[in-house]
Amino acid sequence: CERNKGESEFLQAVREVLESLEPVLEKRPDLVEAGILERIVEPERQIMFRVSWVDDNGKVQVNRGYRIQFNSAIGPYKGGLRLHPSVNASVIKFLGFEQIFKNSLTTLPMGGGKGGSDFDPKGKSDGEVMRFCQAFMTELAKHIGADTDVPAGDIGTGAREIGFMFGQYKRLRNEFTGVLTGKGLSYGGSLARTEATGYGLCYFTEEMLGCMKNDSFKGKTVVVSGSGNVAIYATQKATEFGAKVVAMSDSNGYIYDPNGINLDVVKQIKEVERGRIKEYCNRVQGATYTEGCKGIWGIKCDIALPCATQNELDGEAADKLIANGVMAVAEGANMPSTPEAIEKFLAKGILFGPAKAANAGGVATSGLEMAQNSARYSWTFEEVDAKLHSIMKTIFHNSFNAAKEYGMEGNLVAGANIAGFLKVADAMKWQGVAY
Ligand code: NDP
Repeated sequence: CERNKGESEFLQAVREVLESLEPVLEKRPDLVEAGILERIVEPERQIMFRVSWVDDNGKVQVNRGYRIQFNSAIGPYKGGLRLHPSVNASVIKFLGFEQIFKNSLTTLPMGGGKGGSDFDPKGKSDGEVMRFCQAFMTELAKHIGADTDVPAGDIGTGAREIGFMFGQYKRLRNEFTGVLTGKGLSYGGSLARTEATGYGLCYFTEEMLGCMKNDSFKGKTVVVSGSGNVAIYATQKATEFGAKVVAMSDSNGYIYDPNGINLDVVKQIKEVERGRIKEYCNRVQGATYTEGCKGIWGIKCDIALPCATQNELDGEAADKLIANGVMAVAEGANMPSTPEAIEKFLAKGILFGPAKAANAGGVATSGLEMAQNSARYSWTFEEVDAKLHSIMKTIFHNSFNAAKEYGMEGNLVAGANIAGFLKVADAMKWQGVAY
């Protein structure tokens, strides 16, 4: 704690993982002897840098850039780039730490990393976003590479930003490699990457409902927070599975549509116009908008899919969901539920799919994009989607079985931590300690 003072999100993430690992370490003293715990919580490398660029008024702007290369035991560092004013060293560090276990769970060879900047793309012109991305990549390019570290998108980093960054990397290095994922389809992107996290979340949830409750999405009422990439495609797949999604949100407030969200309208507002979710009510009759995003958890639902940001679902929100009879919660965002909320769900026997397992579909498909880039080949949408579906089922079963093996049946938080940890820990042990 002393060494990471003030890094509250990072300490929260580490605490959760270490607690789950207690029974594992009792059975595996070899990992304790190899100093795995002390080593795994310390990033291999952490880079912080100035990003200066010129805005449309000719004024110089300065942001701070980050890249954390947390663990490369099982593959090149891999993890997204977050562009949001709330980004700081602690946020990047917790995301990078979580990414180690998530990437391990995908069964693909990817280490853990994360990065980003406190730059806010909201309200900026395309020219400003381009100049920022180019300045950001000018420094980042020194530290990444197709076999070293392969960043991807995250909050605020979509296809537009990845395109600008990829172009700058190629210009600087004079090489066309799969150094970023989430690329456009015309220059090395993978089909189904855009849909992957949201679809993957629903594949995981469907498997969890089927195996643990002999149930499914069919006929269920669902609340999805956020209205970004993950939220949109989670809503699409849940609807395809026969559920009715009745609410979505952004950081200002939430919409409620008792007839089921019309996703074409949401896509037009968020993906095309880059507008606010409240606009939905001007276009769809019977829908209502409420200021304040936390109120969304007061809506009665069977399944809750938090897909916005960290710590958006706290103990109070969990109480409301429980009082309204929620049967399953699965995390699309990274660490959206507070520890208090998770404890309440587990205590009530509510199915709970933790982020590092439930939202691993995005990075898994990034791994599939890397594989296609290496082979200089691309698979069809159906091929990628089928691989994603199978990976998500495997992640569920590996997490479920690990929890059972270590005496915590039904606790997927523990199961995901254990399954993700063991593979990385063994790889670290066999690769030896560098003094
Ligand atoms: P986007 O930027 O596309 O969307 C984020 C959404 O969350 C927006 O609707 C945003 O609203 C909303 N939001 C942001 N902050 C808050 C807040 N404090 N309260 C309520 N809503 C908020 O990001 P993604 O959909 O890509 O990512 C969402 C989450 O999923 C993140 O935690 C991310 O790390 C995680 N994730 C994403 C993956 C991916 O493939 N995209 C992969 C794995 C995890 P507004 O427009 O107002 O900012």
